[in-house]
Amino acid sequence: MKRRDFLKVSSITAVVTPFLGSVPKVFSKNLKTSGEKMKLKFYPYTLELKHTFTVATASRKTTPVMMVEIEYDGVIGYGEASMPPYLGESHQTATEFLSKVNLEQFPDPFKTEEILSYVDSIAPGNPAAKASIDIALHDLLGKLMNQPWYKIWGLNPENTPYTSFTIGIDKPDVVRQKVKEAEQYKILKVKLGLDNDKEMIETIRSVTDKPIRCDVNQGWKDKEYALKMIEWLATKGVEFIEQPMPKDWYDEHAWLRERSPIPVIGDESVQRLPDVKKAYGVYDGINVKLMKSTGMREAYKMILLAKSLGMKVMLGCMTETSCAISAAAQLSPMVDWADLDGAELISNDLFEGTKIIDGKVTLTNLPGIGVRKIK
Ligand code: MG
Repeated sequence: MKRRDFLKVSSITAVVTPFLGSVPKVFSKNLKTSGEKMKLKFYPYTLELKHTFTVATASRKTTPVMMVEIEYDGVIGYGEASMPPYLGESHQTATEFLSKVNLEQFPDPFKTEEILSYVDSIAPGNPAAKASIDIALHDLLGKLMNQPWYKIWGLNPENTPYTSFTIGIDKPDVVRQKVKEAEQYKILKVKLGLDNDKEMIETIRSVTDKPIRCDVNQGWKDKEYALKMIEWLATKGVEFIEQPMPKDWYDEHAWLRERSPIPVIGDESVQRLPDVKKAYGVYDGINVKLMKSTGMREAYKMILLAKSLGMKVMLGCMTETSCAISAAAQLSPMVDWADLDGAELISNDLFEGTKIIDGKVTLTNLPGIGVRKIK
């Protein structure tokens, strides 16, 4: 090579090399077919709640969760199953389910449809355990692509909603204390369905005029009573009502929806994709949660279907670490309402990720589901 040509080549190299050097390691790994296998690990964990949490169906101070990791080519994707006891999953059921999952048979982690259909086919039910795999796989893939999921889906992070802060059923002094703690939140979500509904609302209204959303968790067992309560609640600045009556009362909810002055939203009635169609004409909207939908992939489809049917969509959660909350938050620019305060209700988070800033869901620009493990 002539010296002049050599200088030309080396100067190009000098310009190009620093750029190549800046390509993130995880992204460069994606450029080759590694021949690696996905390895699944999981371990039980127990979330400590800051307050005893009471809804119409149960009361508790802790929530069992299963933490999941999928490792592929040196990159780890994180996932989580949150299992409030009244929903029927537990450390034991999740251990049994996850022990059956063999991801090593899939040479390409990007074949999400195939992998997650296989996971779904292992056993019926187990939505939270299935979600833990889905979330970890999405985290892994996002990291391999070096992009957060909201970007992969083409969503604008500025369009994230404000989240409500949940106030469980309690005595007036505790309710007042919780309203005080919820200062940064612009919207309150109030649990109803026991015998002190009016007291709960009047207590809150004695200290704040923030918008309220109510969740009855199937607590009312009479449609005429439900309508009277909703009419009263509407005069107290309640924006909508969630799952007022038992989940299989489709006709009664359709009756109520026709007469209700505020939207009626289905939560326990709407678990997975086929339930969205069943909820059409029965509810004005649905509450989508990763722990019901089996994860991000099906939640995304549920949101698209509900919106295409002209229904409202709320994105909710269980008490969860910032892992599952951040996964749900990736979808949040698509929805009308968010209830993603789950990680704010616990005192022993394992991750740092999506934050609630001045009440607004605030996404990080970290790849995958946007989290960093802190413990
Ligand atoms: Mg609910």
